[in-house]
Amino acid sequence: MDAPESLPFWLHPPWRRLYQARALGRMPHALLLSGGRGMGKEMLARHLGQSLLCQAPDGEGHPCGRCRGCHLFRAGTHPDFVWLAPDTEGGSREIRIDAVREACMGEALSSQAGGYRILVFAPAEAMNRHAFNALLKTLEEPLGDTLMLLLAVRAERLPATIRSRCQRLHLAPPTEDAALAWLAAQGLEVDAVEALRLAAGAPLAALEVARDGSLQARREALGDFLELAAGRADPVLVAEAWTRRQPGLSLNWIAGWIADLARAAAARQPPRLRDPRVVESLMALATRLDPAGLHRLWRRVVRLAAEAEARNLSPQLALETSLVEWARLCHRAGPG
Ligand SMILES: [Zn+2]
Repeated sequence: MDAPESLPFWLHPPWRRLYQARALGRMPHALLLSGGRGMGKEMLARHLGQSLLCQAPDGEGHPCGRCRGCHLFRAGTHPDFVWLAPDTEGGSREIRIDAVREACMGEALSSQAGGYRILVFAPAEAMNRHAFNALLKTLEEPLGDTLMLLLAVRAERLPATIRSRCQRLHLAPPTEDAALAWLAAQGLEVDAVEALRLAAGAPLAALEVARDGSLQARREALGDFLELAAGRADPVLVAEAWTRRQPGLSLNWIAGWIADLARAAAARQPPRLRDPRVVESLMALATRLDPAGLHRLWRRVVRLAAEAEARNLSPQLALETSLVEWARLCHRAGPG
């Protein structure tokens, strides 16, 4: 983590911004680092943390990797780098309120080693109202060399009072060509386009979905989706089988396929998938399905996914409803 090249290319521009701010003495007290899953927020936060604690950073602010600060950092024992995350082993989805209070107390905010003190909230969305209140007090009266680093996938979900006190740095996905070149260098070529799309353009997430079996699960789900269109499967049974996997993801997949179909129906542009037979089946569907109907169904599935995510609706019911309506839309259009 110490070499400059350890940051992947799409993190170089945000790194330069951070480094320049630091060189000009304009490092903020609170930084909101936003970006999709797999964009490298944690990586950038660690790199910045190590750099601020390093005694001899190089000309571009990268940590040296050899000094005492770097050694402590890499051993995970630096007293001035505090990483606050949900206690996942305890099954919690929240950052503990007492951990936030403890980290934000006046005494605790002073550096142990006489330099920077960095608190990382990973992710900031995992704080509850009380935790935000504790943090807000600190943001209102920042101490000299303290940096609060808030990581967020959905920054808009954080309280406005918190957001307005943070400088914002957003990590946007790189262009597809650049991301594909990087993935190829990591050894991922065959499934790269599909993985990258599934990961919403985030390269690290693309690597993960290609390696953790999500890509295969999605291909199987697409097979079921096409069987439903052909009237050869039962939507309720398919929903049940999918719920045993990850229902939230499946709903997003369905929304994605319907959006692909609507685009294909409008522009005759085939979706970028690996299996040409699947592409053929999707294109055949696109020609016989009503674009307005597809668009309505897409909006409905997106709404159902949001309801399920907000826990107003059971994921299985959301999935079942989506698949029943998908089968119905195809049935109304007549046999393919
Ligand atoms: Zn160092």
